[in-house]
Amino acid sequence: MTTTNTQIGLVGFLCEVTEEPVTFQECLACAQRGAPGCPMVPAIIHDIASSVRSPEYANELAIKAGAEVGFSATELLGCPRQYRLKKQHPYWEKPSGMYRMTFGSGYHAALSTYQGGIPEQTLTWKFKLLGMSVLLVGTPDLVELRPGGWYITDYKVTGNPPFGRKVPICNACDLEMYKGDDGLTCPNCGPLNARSSAISRVYRPAQARSSHVEQVNLYALLIEKNVAMLAKKYNLSGLALEKFCGGQIAYLSQKGVVRCDVQLDRAAASALLKTRLRVLLSEDLPPIIDDTDELWRCDYCAVRTHCEQLHASPVGKPDKEIPE
Ligand code: SF4
Ligand code: SF4
Repeated sequence: MTTTNTQIGLVGFLCEVTEEPVTFQECLACAQRGAPGCPMVPAIIHDIASSVRSPEYANELAIKAGAEVGFSATELLGCPRQYRLKKQHPYWEKPSGMYRMTFGSGYHAALSTYQGGIPEQTLTWKFKLLGMSVLLVGTPDLVELRPGGWYITDYKVTGNPPFGRKVPICNACDLEMYKGDDGLTCPNCGPLNARSSAISRVYRPAQARSSHVEQVNLYALLIEKNVAMLAKKYNLSGLALEKFCGGQIAYLSQKGVVRCDVQLDRAAASALLKTRLRVLLSEDLPPIIDDTDELWRCDYCAVRTHCEQLHASPVGKPDKEIPE
């Protein structure tokens, strides 16, 4: 099988069986011939290959809008080092790794036919930062204008939705306790006996994941900047146009739906936007992820080899687990 290395970005698949790079066409032809030992079928290979979005999607919109550079909300919230490396190197992904995303897109497409609000409206906002003209791009799954203001819904198709659980709380501080080296520990009072009457257990409903909360908050900024356009396009009016009444993530699994409320925090969203853009716009290669909650990204990263080569040592969870 032959591949070319002169392009950058996603140039083909990594074969499920041989782990060798193959072009999309080679993979499809192989699936059509029966692909022994491979779980893929031709229609899935075709669907995945044909739904790959241009890596320059946000930049193309930026150029049309007269901005120098564009970022989607998703790009802004991912690993900035990965974003940069994907623009510099060719890379390949296993079809099985992309299957989940394509599967999710199919359900999103079905839900977007609901007309009870504004489904999948692409919103943009052009502004200046660090002397550059930047375009932020985002497409919330559903935006509704309710009597109290805008309400944002985003769907996440997942096999692993968040769930509610009972958590230990320190009665004195009203803070959630964690498992420390010396057992249950309050961030203020330190370790406490697990049977102590100073601890109660309360039910904590399922919580939206932090990057999903951040995404909805970026969408709120985009809506704020596009109120006039939305009012005109969808024939909306009234005082509610100037307000927000909340948001939610609906986690959709095969077993059911888990809805999680999202608190909107405009100041935090603005600060996040500036912090992320500073890293993305910097000439320096962004650093590796060091936030433990985000290390999972390295396990699915298509440019991990490049990342590790440049870092000159392993990254992601194994890096953290190596004893000193
Ligand atoms: S169909 Fe399967 S075995 Fe054939 S090239 Fe694609 S991934 Fe490899
Ligand atoms: S391996 Fe991890 S730190 Fe490196 S680019 Fe990928 S996601 Fe980012």
